[in-house]
Formats: sequence, C-alpha cells, structure tokens
Amino acid sequence: MRHVIPPHLKFPKDFFAERDDEFMGFRLTMADYMEFLRRAFSKINENGEYITSLDAATGDGDHWVNLNGGLEKVVAMADELGNLSFFDAFKRIGMTMMSSIGGSGGVLYGSAYLEAAKVLKEHEYLESSDICDILSAMCSAIMNRGKSEPGMKTMLDSLYPAVETYKAHIAAGSSEAETLAAVKNAAIDGANSTKDMEAVKGRAYYQGNRGVGHLDPGAVTMSYQIETLMDFLTEKL
Ligand code: ADP
Ligand code: MG
Repeated sequence: MRHVIPPHLKFPKDFFAERDDEFMGFRLTMADYMEFLRRAFSKINENGEYITSLDAATGDGDHWVNLNGGLEKVVAMADELGNLSFFDAFKRIGMTMMSSIGGSGGVLYGSAYLEAAKVLKEHEYLESSDICDILSAMCSAIMNRGKSEPGMKTMLDSLYPAVETYKAHIAAGSSEAETLAAVKNAAIDGANSTKDMEAVKGRAYYQGNRGVGHLDPGAVTMSYQIETLMDFLTEKL
C-alpha cells in the first residue's frame, strides 16, 4: 500500500531551509561572560562557611578566602574586561588570578584562563562548542600545571567529567538544553564523588586523614562555577 501524506500534514516546501538558517543556540559576548563570573562569585561568596569547613577538614582552610578574594578582584574589573576581546580579557583574568589568589588555586586558575585565552583568538562571540573548547583547555592546563589527573580528590574531579560529557553530547548531536543539563550534572556528581577519595595532591595530602569522608573544597567551588555557567547559558537559549 502506498502511503500518501495528507496535504495539511505536509511540511511547507522550504520548511527545512528556514530551520537551517534559524540559529538555535546562544551567543555569548565578553560582557555576558563577566555576568556569569559575577554570578559564580556570588554563589561562592555566599557559601564561605561551608567551603572553609571543607578545607579545614581536608586541607589548610584557606581555599575559600583565596578563590573568593581572586574572583572579587576580577568581578570588580567587569566593565573594563567586558569591553575587551575574549583573548585580551581572558589573559587579564588569568594574570589577575595568578597574582591575587594564594595557594595552588592561583597558579592553577591562572594557567587555566591563560590556556583558554589561546583558543579565543578571533572570536566575536562564543557558541556552545567554544564553551566546550574553553573548559577543555582549562582542564588540560590544570592537569599539566598541577601534575594531576582525575581521581586525586581535586577540582579536576568536577571539571574533567564535565568536559568529557560536553564533548560526548556535542558528538552525539544532543540538543543544547540537554547538553547543558548533562554537563551541569556531571560537574555536581564529580564533586560529590570526591567524598570517598584520598587526596594525593595539594595541601590536603599532608593531612593525616587525607580528607576521606569529606568533599574536596576545590571540586565543590569548581562545580559551583560550572553549574552557574550552565544555568546562565540555558537562560540564553
Ligand atoms: P592549597 O592547596 O595550596 O592550600 P587552595 O586551598 O587554594 O590551595 O586550593 C585547594 C584546592 O586546589 C584543592 O581542594 C584541590 O581541589 C585543588 N588542587 C590542589 N592541588 C592541585 C593539583 N595539583 N591539581 C589540581 N587541583 C589541585
Ligand atoms: Mg588550602
């Protein structure tokens, strides 16, 4: 039997052509990125006591003070940075973090932003694949600089699975909304997975208990940033 599509159910002749032209994702400017950083700073700033208690249990107790102070400096430069190219702005963020965040965090976040700047040479705005590239560059920079990898109870245990999930969803052609939700969950699950890990890097390593039974503070602040970014991007879809 021949299937005949009733005329009222047929697609208009140029339906697909029009859909191809219509842009379905987000386009992020540098000013938007600064708004994300402002929200991430606010989330980290509000959770000071909790993060400090995690670092007191696993490390030397300064992670929140370090990161909060560094982000505060960067966010105070929002108007200026929002008007720069992505390349120049990311370089400035990296250098500011490097010089103002104490402990390992400053060097690691600083290197992450400097490495991310390199993938942003000519961009006028960022799309989803660019965000994935940025997070991937940050992850590689932290692994190289920290001589660390996932499973060592660090911020990488949130960032690495988030990046892998992002890449897998882009490769599978998932919708943007689905991709962003999956990346957010991977970051949060990754941070939670540090609870039972033993620290082998950073100051937590020198603590007697090596933090077993507590979440890694750096993984939690990383998951706050990724969660905030994914929520912000989802709003922009
Ligand atoms: P420090 O460990 O020097 O006191 P912070 O307290 O600012 O530095 O940051 C601690 C966090 O940094 C840890 O919770 C961990 O997530 C992360 N971290 C420490 N060392 C490394 C490393 N070598 N590689 C990746 N992340 C690290
Ligand atoms: Mg510390």
